[in-house]
Amino acid sequence: MNLIFLGPPGAGKGTIAKRLLDRFSLLQISTGDLFRENIKGQTEVGMKAKGFMDRGELVPDGIVIEMLKGRIAQDDCKGGVILDGFPRTIPQAEALAADSSVTIDKVVNFVVPDDVVVSRLCGRRICPTCGRIYHTVNMPPKVEGVCDDDGVALIQRDDDQPDAIQHRLVVYRDQTEPLIAFYRSRGMLADIDGALPDVGAIVESAALILEQLQG
Ligand code: AMP
Repeated sequence: MNLIFLGPPGAGKGTIAKRLLDRFSLLQISTGDLFRENIKGQTEVGMKAKGFMDRGELVPDGIVIEMLKGRIAQDDCKGGVILDGFPRTIPQAEALAADSSVTIDKVVNFVVPDDVVVSRLCGRRICPTCGRIYHTVNMPPKVEGVCDDDGVALIQRDDDQPDAIQHRLVVYRDQTEPLIAFYRSRGMLADIDGALPDVGAIVESAALILEQLQG
């Protein structure tokens, strides 16, 4: 079972994906995380991507597609993946559709209005060690600013600053939103309400779609 989680930045794609992985024996592939790892490791891909990411722009398709294809070809992806943050443009979706080694079973579209996105991204905090995602108000850690799991100080992503957030939303509307029509016209899209205040309820509505796929 291979899935795409589609939606604006801050829609909760990563958070919900993490809650479904064990239950459905899936692996989460986040192109944003892959880029951040590459930046940390100071790889060539990381160096190419950094400027675009800091400005809240998309990394050019060629770089993203090559990186994603390399990752998805690895053995640990064979049991099924959730693609989180890929594809983000029509050319990326076309490259994925042309890749015969991976078949996408469903695209889960997280529907979330802009004001919810902005408040989620402004309050988002991340553990740099384990990647766990928190929110200062909606999903706070037990001790302020510290990861519950490993006691490490939480960080705020550079692109979660107000200016970059606004720019990412514009980029989403221009370049990523057309994917909704792309996948809907192919009968692959399932919408879920990603704005529900209860994260557990969003997890369950996504889980329902996955259960239906499993038959
Ligand atoms: P994310 O963690 O998914 O919010 O991604 C963070 C940043 O990584 C984005 O704002 C882009 O700069 C870059 N990025 C991640 N995935 C893609 C993609 N599929 N295409 C282009 N850029 C991407």
